[in-house]
Amino acid sequence: MKTFTRILATTALVALTAGAAAAGDKGYVGIAMPTKSSARWIADGENMVQQFQAAGYDTDLQYAEDDIPNQLAQIENMITKGVNVLVIAAIDGTTLTSALANAQAADIDVVAYDRLIRDSGDVDYYATFDNFKVGVQQASTLVDGLKERFPDAKPWNVELFGGSPDDNNAYFFYNGAMSVLQPLIDSGDIAVPSGQMGMDTVGTLRWDGSVAQARMDNLLSANYTGDQRVHGVLSPYDGLSIGIISSLNGVGYGSGDLAMPIISGQDAEVPSVKAILRGEQYSTIFKDTRELARVTVEMVNAMLDGSEPPINDTTTYDNGVKVVPSYLLEPVPVTGANWEQVLIDSGYYSKDQIQ
Ligand code: BGC
Repeated sequence: MKTFTRILATTALVALTAGAAAAGDKGYVGIAMPTKSSARWIADGENMVQQFQAAGYDTDLQYAEDDIPNQLAQIENMITKGVNVLVIAAIDGTTLTSALANAQAADIDVVAYDRLIRDSGDVDYYATFDNFKVGVQQASTLVDGLKERFPDAKPWNVELFGGSPDDNNAYFFYNGAMSVLQPLIDSGDIAVPSGQMGMDTVGTLRWDGSVAQARMDNLLSANYTGDQRVHGVLSPYDGLSIGIISSLNGVGYGSGDLAMPIISGQDAEVPSVKAILRGEQYSTIFKDTRELARVTVEMVNAMLDGSEPPINDTTTYDNGVKVVPSYLLEPVPVTGANWEQVLIDSGYYSKDQIQ
């Protein structure tokens, strides 16, 4: 809305001379992504550039390699270059307040992409998935797997991992998962032998797989001696699941009569889908980044046209200053039973990428 008049003036001029829909006619979009260390963010960036350019925008895509000052500098640079809109997947959702105040002063609209930006009144919209539901699905598949692989082992011994405490999503994933697991802990069906619960204890800074691996090593050596076995691990992200699996393999799980525990994940990244097919990881959650890019482009189009952006949630995402109007997409649980239908039939991956 803010940039409507400015864009209208530029677009009218350009349209007169060059005709509509040429690249760049519609405006200039700065896309700030957190890291290339995870394939999902690479796909997010590629899908957005492709879809924004097809819709007639110029783009500036930057990755900050999980370094907060780096991301801040990239955003400030986009503001200086005169973008019309910023699309930001924050590394730390609480560090962008003054950068966004600068964006606001320069009349730049802001979309929080996948991760909520906190502590700022200058976030216009939020495009994401139903993050609580992601957690529910992670825990539900975990419980399904426990019933399937360890029908007679109750109470099931389960250890819990959370995402990065500076990412708002991590709390939604954890709370969604605990809405399924806590009743089973209360009823005695599930035990957490380490006693380690709560995001302040189980969080994994920067979603770092090696941090998860080291914590799993400690959990195993401190709590799983003698005949004590771990049956399940709640993992909120495929990159953590890989570290957790390495740790378990290191002490013999997955060989001989030591069955692999049930391990969840998120993002349906290729190495983890392969691990599901090998029976090492049990489940992941597919979040179609093509769809998230599509919603984001629609939001930006609407903001710049002065029309109503697609919104289906106006209550859930309070960022500490305002409730940010949001569009929540549906996450899809993936296991060995449906991976082909969800990931291949949808055209997200080709079969030879996985097998
Ligand atoms: C995203 C997840 C991702 C995680 C780690 C979260 O904010 O929603 O899809 O697994 O970050 O990159």
